[in-house]
Amino acid sequence: MTQFSPSLEPEARLARLARQLDRERQARAQAEAIAEKGLRDLYENQQWLALLQRVTDGANRSTRLTDAMRMALEEICAKTGWAFGNALLVSEEGTLAVGADIWFAEGEGSLLPFVEATRTIAVGPGEGMAGDVLSRGQASWHLDLANEAGCERCTLAVQSGFTAGFAIPVLIRSELVAILEFFSRTPIRVDEQMQSTLHQIGVQLGYVAERERNRAALLHEARHDALTGLGNRKHLAELAAGALTRHWQTGSRLALLAIDLDGFKAINDSLGHHAGDTVLVATARRLERCIGQVLRPLQDRGSSLPLVARVGGDEFVVLVEDAPSADFLNHFAENLHEVLAQPINVDGGQAELAAAIGIAVCIRDRPTIDQLLRDADLAMYEAKSRGRSQTVIFSSELGEATRQRRILEAELKEAIHKCQFVLHYQPIVALDDGHHVVGYEALVRWQHPSKGLLHPGEFIEIAEECGLITFLGGWILEEACRAAARLAELYPRKPLRFISVNVAAPQFLASNFADRVRKTLMRTGVTPEQIRLEITESVAIADPDRTAAVLQQVREWGVQTSLDDFGTGYSSLSYLKQLPFDTLKIDRSFVNDLQSDKSQSIVQAIMDLARSIDLKVVAEGIETAGQGDTLAKLGCGYAQGYWFGRPSPENEAFAS
Ligand code: C2E
Ligand code: MG
Ligand code: MG
Repeated sequence: MTQFSPSLEPEARLARLARQLDRERQARAQAEAIAEKGLRDLYENQQWLALLQRVTDGANRSTRLTDAMRMALEEICAKTGWAFGNALLVSEEGTLAVGADIWFAEGEGSLLPFVEATRTIAVGPGEGMAGDVLSRGQASWHLDLANEAGCERCTLAVQSGFTAGFAIPVLIRSELVAILEFFSRTPIRVDEQMQSTLHQIGVQLGYVAERERNRAALLHEARHDALTGLGNRKHLAELAAGALTRHWQTGSRLALLAIDLDGFKAINDSLGHHAGDTVLVATARRLERCIGQVLRPLQDRGSSLPLVARVGGDEFVVLVEDAPSADFLNHFAENLHEVLAQPINVDGGQAELAAAIGIAVCIRDRPTIDQLLRDADLAMYEAKSRGRSQTVIFSSELGEATRQRRILEAELKEAIHKCQFVLHYQPIVALDDGHHVVGYEALVRWQHPSKGLLHPGEFIEIAEECGLITFLGGWILEEACRAAARLAELYPRKPLRFISVNVAAPQFLASNFADRVRKTLMRTGVTPEQIRLEITESVAIADPDRTAAVLQQVREWGVQTSLDDFGTGYSSLSYLKQLPFDTLKIDRSFVNDLQSDKSQSIVQAIMDLARSIDLKVVAEGIETAGQGDTLAKLGCGYAQGYWFGRPSPENEAFAS
């Protein structure tokens, strides 16, 4: 029960009650204020968290940093009410931040001068807000722009109505890749939550930058050659496809140069892969330099950048858009030859290379990139076949010749399958009074189903190049051995006549050649002395030690060996002494020219040499009695030629 105090006057009691009420009101107001601030802070925190959530979601969806930064600027400015946000990209060396032309502005009209200055901004370390981030890698706060001394951008910001600004870093771990800067017209109140959210946003954007960088690295790897750093075939195909589309639209002259190094394989084989790699890298740099020097004038006129790609071991392709003329391309190729022929220092020595260049140009037509590449390749092979440092521009004739060749190649395969070949035999006679036959040379003919009888000049080279010679050569050797056995049976009482068999380069150079000969001899049961293997000079000197070993081996079994077309190659006479040949065949070209003193002295020298190393000599291509007589006088023992008998089928050739 409340005690009634009669001593207090009613007024005093009222005053006391009023004071009490006032105290209670103040306490209540204080409590309410505390509760409201708590709520407000909570709300504010939730807003920052929601912003971070939105930016994180957006960043997760972005594949490009620029997209993610654009989104982040918008979100941040929308949440905070800051009037301007801008993104800068940091250079690879980390020494320059350049405006990425990604910005957000509210009230763009009045901000125009500031926006313009922002678009082209480039700052170095320590220069203003962004420069501060660039040098320290941390956020930089400028909450009173009006009092920032010596900051040009701050002055401009103040003129544009901003009072505060700050910049935050975008980091991949500790590496600064971009900077976001913000400006506000109202004061910025920095608190822990805001700082932490902005820091987190920088981190999230950094993740996007890292993903983009990894992706770019993978893409680069997939499109570039790891050794030389040049584009690869895939890259070339992509760029060429774009160039072709432009060519179709504008009719500009588009050219592809296929470049193949001569002599690269030898360097790789003899000096090792490290030397080979050095050569390839040096070649790549030389190509790039030459392209820069010769094709730069084109670029100045607005043409696209020429591309050089490595498309195979020692094969490179240059893509040129807007080549002014065929002359220009030839001139460019000459420059390439000059640059590529300069020696390259490798592992203490020097490598000397040359290149073959094939050019395919499309002017009006609509080829595919594959066609264009094939044409350039074809022209390059043609250039290769013409010797060192040659250039060939693809032409329709070259294309037609190739088409014919392809057809022949296919027919040749079928011919081997169906055995459309036959051997003709040309007698080899002794240059004595009786001109008696001592043997025959087996010469292959192709009974072509529509073209009739084809001579080896029309197909042997193709068979060699497409690898069919191994099969054809195997058949020829076997057939010649069987024919020799039949010949021996035909004339059991006459001295044995031999059959000379031509051996092609790939056949002789195959590692199992001697073994194949042995097996054929055994299978056919021929007397080995009846078989003479003819190889040409160039084949014999390709690897003289090996040639000597193989010839020695077959001679041990009784097989004879003959050096064909002597005088057409480059072999020195000293080489000849080291190689175990029984016979030397003087090439037809000397016999043709026997009336000249020069040819006679050459033949005389060959005879002297042959006699000194105990070689029998057969002269080829005797077409007149006079030639036979002259050769006999020069001491030549044997001859072969139309005068004594043309190559003919077995039954005719062996008839007498
Ligand atoms: P080769 O081995 O020097 O053969 C001699 C060539 O000269 C033959 O041409 C022959 O018909 C020709 N010939 C012979 N006497 C005369 C003559 O008095 N005047 C003229 N103008 N030519 C004469 P063929 O049969 O066309 O063979 C050409 C070349 O093809 C051969 O030159 C040889 O290198 C190659 N060859 C021929 N048969 C075979 C073979 O079975 N296997 C291999 N791998 N190559 C062969
Ligand atoms: Mg021959
Ligand atoms: Mg010959």
